[in-house]
Amino acid sequence: MVGGGFGGLLLARELAQAGARGQPLKVTLIDQRNHHTFQPLLYQVATAGLQPPDIGISLRATLRRHPPKIRLGEVVDVDPDAHEDGSLTFVIAGGGPTGVELAGALAELVELVVSRDHPDPDTSRVRIVLVEVMDRLLGGFSSRSAEQARHELERRGVEVRLGTGIAQATEAHVTFDDDVLRARILVWAAGVAASPLAQALGVELGPGGRLPGLDRVVGAPPVDVDRVREAGRGAGQLGLELPVP
Ligand SMILES: Cc1cc2nc3c(=O)[nH]c(=O)nc-3n(C[C@H](O)[C@H](O)[C@H](O)COP(=O)(O)OP(=O)(O)OC[C@H]3O[C@@H](n4cnc5c(N)ncnc54)[C@H](O)[C@@H]3O)c2cc1C
Repeated sequence: MVGGGFGGLLLARELAQAGARGQPLKVTLIDQRNHHTFQPLLYQVATAGLQPPDIGISLRATLRRHPPKIRLGEVVDVDPDAHEDGSLTFVIAGGGPTGVELAGALAELVELVVSRDHPDPDTSRVRIVLVEVMDRLLGGFSSRSAEQARHELERRGVEVRLGTGIAQATEAHVTFDDDVLRARILVWAAGVAASPLAQALGVELGPGGRLPGLDRVVGAPPVDVDRVREAGRGAGQLGLELPVP
């Protein structure tokens, strides 16, 4: 079924009841949004009487008693021979703090939320692959922390690939130095560059275009820069292992 509007919800309910009566039915509902929009109250949103979420009703919650498979996506064509296309494979590039935390959060999302909302075998096909070009995770941290992070991620089902980089990515594939994977979702956590605005200050920039420590606030009246720095150093006392400016 395409569309979880009034028509779609009604049909899904009817089919679920037929299924409950023993008819052999497999129902998949696809909508480009994960919620039903209650159109009769659209005018209230347009006139600021209601917030948009007030008229967006979760498809899963509405159909919880006899849930069909619910898929988020815009249907653009019909292909009766369609097969797995890598859309359940997440590749995360970069095993620094961002990549590690994201991989862990995704694994939790799959374990705690998605597996409940998708009580079909599909979630077992979710793959989370964390790729790091160095031979260890969390380069800026102790090797003990790195090992612990790797152990914890693998325990949650994340595939950790060390010592390999990403050579190429297309819409459907990610090519590693030594392998190719069908994957439609690639998250880049392998380094960010500072805002190009930093170049406007006319000082020599550090790695990634970052600003070095400055001893004055550009364009502003004199301020006690040391006090600002001290505030930053205070973060170190919270137990963060990261260098602070
Ligand atoms: C302002 C307003 C007030 C209204 N007031 C009333 C009222 O008081 N009483 C009444 O009976 N009716 C009212 N209606 C009409 C009623 O909302 C519609 O008749 C009803 O929503 C139509 O239901 P539907 O399921 O056919 O389509 P829709 O409710 O429009 O649902 C279509 C669904 O299909 C999804 N979809 C579309 N294309 C794709 C695609 N390619 N791939 C995946 N998903 C897709 C959309 O995201 C949407 O969820 C009102 C309509 C409006 C706009």
